[in-house]
Amino acid sequence: MKRIYADSAATTPLCAAAAKAMSEYYELGGGNPSGLYAEARTAKDALERSRAVIAEWIGAKPSEIIFTSGGTEADNAAIRTAVEPNRSGDKFHIVASPIEHHAVTKPLGSLYEEGFYVDRCGVGNDGVVSADDVARAIQPETFLVSVMTANNEIGTVQPVEEIGELCRSRGVLFHTDAVQAVGHIPIDVRKIKCDFLAASAHKFGGPTGIGFLYVRDGCVEHVYGTPVGGGQERGRRAGTENVAGAVGMAAALDHAMTYCKTTGYLVTTLRDRLIDGILREVPGAVLNGDRERRLPGNANFCIEGVTGEPLVLLLDEAGISASSGSACTTGNTEGSHVLRAIGRTPEESRSALRLTISGDTTQADVDEIIRAVRDCAAKLRGMSKGG
Ligand code: PLP
Repeated sequence: MKRIYADSAATTPLCAAAAKAMSEYYELGGGNPSGLYAEARTAKDALERSRAVIAEWIGAKPSEIIFTSGGTEADNAAIRTAVEPNRSGDKFHIVASPIEHHAVTKPLGSLYEEGFYVDRCGVGNDGVVSADDVARAIQPETFLVSVMTANNEIGTVQPVEEIGELCRSRGVLFHTDAVQAVGHIPIDVRKIKCDFLAASAHKFGGPTGIGFLYVRDGCVEHVYGTPVGGGQERGRRAGTENVAGAVGMAAALDHAMTYCKTTGYLVTTLRDRLIDGILREVPGAVLNGDRERRLPGNANFCIEGVTGEPLVLLLDEAGISASSGSACTTGNTEGSHVLRAIGRTPEESRSALRLTISGDTTQADVDEIIRAVRDCAAKLRGMSKGG
């Protein structure tokens, strides 16, 4: 049976460009980039070339890119880096959106015991955070705002340029978790005016276990929350660098962004076909998140009378990989905090189905997904009626 992959928000397969670049690097036989001999120079050159490519695509300087183990480490480090210098003094207030990923909410959650206060700004029922709400939440004591660039569950794209402008004018640090956005929509840190930005390679065709944190030059003195030890990454992140990972990430980003306009257009067209098809064919289905202001490949629904996880299992049997929300919260029975924040009831939020498609998805795949969701949802309804 041909399988259809519709869970690109969880992870993407390694793209051919990244695989090729990585295997070429392995063939070169790079050593430890900290060494003083030829193999070390091979590794160092590859690492710095990768850093330059990544920096260029997001409008940053190479010195502003720190390689990390992925998005979680980058998010955790951004928050720690903002928090540490404020342990004493009169700044103790943080503003975050209520739809942040756990890589942001968990480190924020433990700050209360450390004497910090985290306020959630509002989010509309359309899944979009308003810059006015952020402005209202900022206090004289605020030192950090964290609003993601695009949501991992419902795909809504946030007004980060407006929020960044606001933060800069109020002298507040701005972190944006762009893990779902980088490689999918154009990102320019100068336009966003963020101080920190987190990204992860496996969300855009790169390998797992590598990501990066952008830290705006001069916005902080030290980076905290990364591994400590050796002096790698200019003393900002210890540990022998994952050079092949960085090479793969740079190649994947280069590939994704070179074709971003056309792929984005094609994927958006297929996504709209998917949304229309599910809303038409599946009784009780409603779309989560704004219809237009969303990532090209994201479609997320609540389906009345159907529970998300059994639906995902039935879809798997039908050859379709989908999810009922964030990969990191599989098994959570309380329902998604994102769906709750946009006004869905606990019961509704347990009925979520996230379908995230990519440039590899075809029109025939989309039509098959629609048919399978319709049939599997009907089967589940029948099963629950039959007791
Ligand atoms: N932030 C967002 C928005 C995500 O979607 C994810 C992963 O799903 C992460 C952070 C964590 O990234 P990683 O899995 O690379 O640690």
